[in-house]
Amino acid sequence: MSVLVFTENWDGKFKKLSFELVSYASKLAEMLNTSAIAMSIGTVADDELQKLGKYGAAKIIRATGEGMNILDNQTWVNSISDIAEKEKATVIVLSNNIMGKALAPRLSVRMKAGLGAGVSGLPKSTEPFVVYKKVFSGNAFADVLIRSEKKILTLSQNSFQLLEKPEVPEIMNVSVSLEAGAVKTQVKDVQKQTGKILLTDAEVVVSGGRGMKSPDNWGPLLELAELLGAATACSRPVSDEGWRPHEEHTGQTGKIIAPNLYFAFGISGATQHLAGVSSSKFIVAINSDKDAPIFEAAQYGIVGDAIKILPKLIEAVKEIKGK
Ligand SMILES: Cc1cc2nc3c(=O)[nH]c(=O)nc-3n(C[C@H](O)[C@H](O)[C@H](O)COP(=O)(O)OP(=O)(O)OC[C@H]3O[C@@H](n4cnc5c(N)ncnc54)[C@H](O)[C@@H]3O)c2cc1C
Repeated sequence: MSVLVFTENWDGKFKKLSFELVSYASKLAEMLNTSAIAMSIGTVADDELQKLGKYGAAKIIRATGEGMNILDNQTWVNSISDIAEKEKATVIVLSNNIMGKALAPRLSVRMKAGLGAGVSGLPKSTEPFVVYKKVFSGNAFADVLIRSEKKILTLSQNSFQLLEKPEVPEIMNVSVSLEAGAVKTQVKDVQKQTGKILLTDAEVVVSGGRGMKSPDNWGPLLELAELLGAATACSRPVSDEGWRPHEEHTGQTGKIIAPNLYFAFGISGATQHLAGVSSSKFIVAINSDKDAPIFEAAQYGIVGDAIKILPKLIEAVKEIKGK
């Protein structure tokens, strides 16, 4: 028996998301009296793979092969399920991000394994196997009982802290040879965003809503983000209006984030917005309406005009930073 954790790498590098997954899998393995095995698909250097050991991976499997560097749902699911069978994995952990959402349901069908999608913590019990998740955009919680022998869990992003449990893992290479035509996905062009902090990785996020009134008012918000080394985000109407790019939209239909600090300028705090940001450690709300729902979710609040408060905050941060 083992817990297999599917880690994601970007051009051969791991990000916080994968370390969180390994931390989670390692704790879960402890609950099940077994060990966590991490797997990675594509070319990743040994020293990068070893980083997974810091968070409790007892063994690391690197699956490589021609055509395997690019996500292809069918071939990757084959590879994960083969490795899971060989390693006698009873639980497989993936992220509840786009990749995990593409792979986990297919894996669940293939392995006849019950799926706990979007779990936000360790199982409440392992016999019976009950996992806990947010439902209805975070307005309620559900305990999900998984009865099948094999189980697949997708972990909500940023819902589990990094836990160091240093191991010196053995690295095992698995070479995947695919039949001609097995890879159905053809990537013809890749355009990468550069120089920006990835919203899902950011520790600090500065976000604006319709209360910012116009895209012309975004300059100071961007300046504050720059000063704080923060990523920028927005509410859905703001991206729908084309004031900000769609990749910045957070919430039920956008990105789900959990930074340490989330600034909400002129955001009402609708449930659909909070569904994407309510796991932030600290929310600072700036809103002209003292009864805005965002203040119920926020730890700190300023009642006032965001457009007037932003320059004052910028000055204060500059002073603290000696700029
Ligand atoms: C199916 C569905 C999915 C959705 N998904 C999402 C989602 O993923 N993300 C999302 O964000 N929304 C989503 N929405 C929309 C959501 O319901 C809200 O309409 C939206 O979040 C409101 O955005 P807002 O707070 O920017 O704007 P508003 O609701 O217009 O609120 C603006 C706020 O700014 C304040 N304000 C006004 N002027 C100032 C000022 N000068 N200074 C300070 N504050 C000021 C106001 O008091 C108000 O609280 C979804 C809706 C549906 C139906």
